[in-house]
Amino acid sequence: MALEKEAKRMAAEFEYTKDDLNKGVKEFLAEMEEGLEKQGTHLSQIPTYVTAVPNGTEKGTFLAVDLGGTNFRVCSITLHGNHTFSLTQSKVAVPRTLMETDSASELFSFMAKQIETFLKQHHADHYETHMAKPGEVSYFDLGFTFSFPVEQVGINKGRLVRWTKGFSIQEAIGKDVCELLQKEIKALNLPVKVSALVNDTVGTLMARSYTSPGKESTLLGAIFGTGTNGAYVEKLSAVKKMAMIDEQEGGTKYDRSTGLMIVNTEWGSFDNSLKVLPDTPYDQSLDRESNNPGIQMFEKRVSGMFLGEILRRAMLALHNHSSPGVSFLKDKSSADNDMTTTTTIDPDSVLFKQWGIDTSVLSIVEEDQSDHLRITKQILEKDLMVSSAATEDAIAIKMLVHAIGKRAARLAAVALGAVVIESKRLETEGFADIGVDGSLVEYYPGFEDYIREAFREIEGIGPEGEKKIRIGLAKDGSGLGAALIALVAHQAEKAGNV
Ligand code: ADP
Ligand code: MG
Repeated sequence: MALEKEAKRMAAEFEYTKDDLNKGVKEFLAEMEEGLEKQGTHLSQIPTYVTAVPNGTEKGTFLAVDLGGTNFRVCSITLHGNHTFSLTQSKVAVPRTLMETDSASELFSFMAKQIETFLKQHHADHYETHMAKPGEVSYFDLGFTFSFPVEQVGINKGRLVRWTKGFSIQEAIGKDVCELLQKEIKALNLPVKVSALVNDTVGTLMARSYTSPGKESTLLGAIFGTGTNGAYVEKLSAVKKMAMIDEQEGGTKYDRSTGLMIVNTEWGSFDNSLKVLPDTPYDQSLDRESNNPGIQMFEKRVSGMFLGEILRRAMLALHNHSSPGVSFLKDKSSADNDMTTTTTIDPDSVLFKQWGIDTSVLSIVEEDQSDHLRITKQILEKDLMVSSAATEDAIAIKMLVHAIGKRAARLAAVALGAVVIESKRLETEGFADIGVDGSLVEYYPGFEDYIREAFREIEGIGPEGEKKIRIGLAKDGSGLGAALIALVAHQAEKAGNV
């Protein structure tokens, strides 16, 4: 009983109330506006130089690569021009040793080699003709999805601002990441031109806009994967800092005719000063012991890289709890029948290792409806090296998981809701379309439902507005989106518009 009570108390620390939600939205709207006006703000509001969204009629074959944080993907995409496409892809995990290294070229040459392997495998004729008779075949346009904060200064040019998600390669900071990749591609003599630098959020937005039926365009692309971020369609005239940026960059050319600019919010850094974000002891210690304390504070409460670690810290706190009767993952004696359950945790358990618990564990526990939470106990046994855990323990874990997951979804609703409100699309168009991508939103049970529940509690959306918000998974979003942006870049160059 004491354990259940204590777990309940801890779960309550993660509650994010209706009042919190509305304060969050208000602050998010203020930071959105501030970011459009000047540079160096919490929300970077980065102009992407993508000034139009596709309508589903685009055609051609393009390459795309995606460095997401966990995996590196290479794909080729053929657009059929009728909202459909075909895609071939390969995926490898990025070796940890390349994430934290002194040399940027180690990471970028790894990527170029993956592209080479992909071409040999899936475009062998094209590749071999090019190697035998250079100049005979055309170059592939490649969209480079790079999901880290970059200061984009042109459609295929952008300087890395900082690493996130556990990457740390000092040498690359401030460098043009397209150039870094093109250099390694050139070293392998591949028929590939890096045509577009794509944030995965913009790719998601483009992909959703291409595939969603009808000709209405999508408002927002949002990622809930290793990290979290969003990009949305803004009126060019609302991007007040644009004139200043144009001047600084010596007048980068872009198509002004649409009157639109897709803006990459970099909302992972929303409220870094913790004015409105919740801040439990587990959030605090996670941040303190991270490699970027005080930064990406929103992301640290919302995304896949962090939820498992929040859970681990909460579980440890419960395990180390000193109150009498609160026994979590420890031997328990039952007064009724004089029985003792013996629970052991292997000293090598990931419970004692930073980043030891993957967020996919939360999805499994949240979903567990089995008798006596048998599945959760199996996970404890298999992944956490905890043997003979009691049902009480599993119940406590489930409470914590639910609280952490639900808080993440409600925080996600703050960002999504604020963008919807700012766009005024519910009033002007009668609906707002959102494309989402990332393992967390795809696999965490009920993530979208919790987001929708929160939308209904947000002033300016409410139960009526919530019904007018469409959310669609943009599967393979970043690959397709990158291809679409490579196409836009290619066409603009051909037409002499840039
Ligand atoms: P990336 O961010 O590299 O594009 P993903 O979108 O697949 O890749 O996100 C990976 C993140 O999602 C990791 O932090 C991982 O812990 C988390 N994750 C993977 N599977 C699941 C799952 N089933 N439920 C919740 N989170 C998951
Ligand atoms: Mg991704």
